[in-house]
This record gives sequence, C-alpha cells and structure tokens, in this order.
Amino acid sequence: MHDSTNNKAVFFDRDGIINHRKIGDYVSSVEEFIIIPEFFDLFREITSLGFITILVTNQQGIGKGLMSIYDLRIIHHHLQSELLRNTGAMFDDIRFCGSLSSENDFRRKPEPGMILEAAQQWKIDLQSSFIIGDMQSDIIAGNKAGVQTIFVGNPSDLTEVKPDFCFNSHIELIQSVLSVFTL
Ligand SMILES: [Mg+2]
Repeated sequence: MHDSTNNKAVFFDRDGIINHRKIGDYVSSVEEFIIIPEFFDLFREITSLGFITILVTNQQGIGKGLMSIYDLRIIHHHLQSELLRNTGAMFDDIRFCGSLSSENDFRRKPEPGMILEAAQQWKIDLQSSFIIGDMQSDIIAGNKAGVQTIFVGNPSDLTEVKPDFCFNSHIELIQSVLSVFTL
C-alpha cells in the first residue's frame, strides 16, 4: 500500500491529543481512556489527505510498574476499534516508550528515537511529515527528527521552543487542516 520512498506521515502524541490527559496520573485502563470527540474529525481529515498515521507515546507508567505492556495493548486495541468504527480508518503504526525519564532513552520524547525508527521502517520523508502534540517535549522531538511541528494546547506551556503551527484547540486545528497539511 505504502511502497514509495517518499511517504508522508503524521505522528500523533496520545495523551492530550487523542484522549483526555489524567493530570498527575497515568491512563492504565480502557475505562480511563476517554477519547476527545473532536479527535475523530481530525483523524478523518488527515487520513483522507493520504498521510500515514503513527502514534508515538511515552508511557512511563510501564517503567514504574503501574501498568503492563498487556494493559497498554488492550487500550490501543480499543482505540483502533473506536477509530475504525467512527472514521473508517486506524493508525498504521503504534509505538510507545515505557522507559523512565531518568533512563534517558533515545526513544523517549523529547528524544526523536520513536519517530526515526518508524520513518526508517515506513520509508517516510521527514521534511514533508508532521508531529501533533500538546507538550513541549513533542515539539522538541519533532524538531530533532526534522518534521514540521504542530502544537495544540496552551501556548504559555512553550518556554523553550516555537512550533511551526500553534493552535489553542482541536477545533482550531481542524479548521486549518487544509492550509497546514496541503502546503
Ligand atoms: Mg501529550
């Protein structure tokens, strides 16, 4: 399906972009995984533009022993079936890093490892690809990987970096999808 060498992708952060963040805690069950309703519209728009879609998520709760990889797979299986039911599409790839922040893992955002390994596997042209995130660490990881960066959240959270695109809400991004992704 995606066999050319210049595939374009959108990398998605998870908590805060796909589902509501649990402040100060980890989402460790399907019951706690509440998908943001506007995400379905965003995902539908982006997949209709021909992007490969890849989830890249830090899940330190695994390293802390608060949930297992099996728990995480159940949540992501639920996500995929909800996406399919609501949009007719699913993520092409889901990657996670369960390391602790203290481990300085190159795969853990703000490092770009997860993006770079997926780019190699999917033959992705990074310059024509994007990351969407709600934290500064997503933007830094995107910059290090060489993708265009889209921030959705409170701009005052950005103290060190300036994303290529900045939106206060999912709705604002959805309204700008064509101008952002079809440049
Ligand atoms: Mg996030």
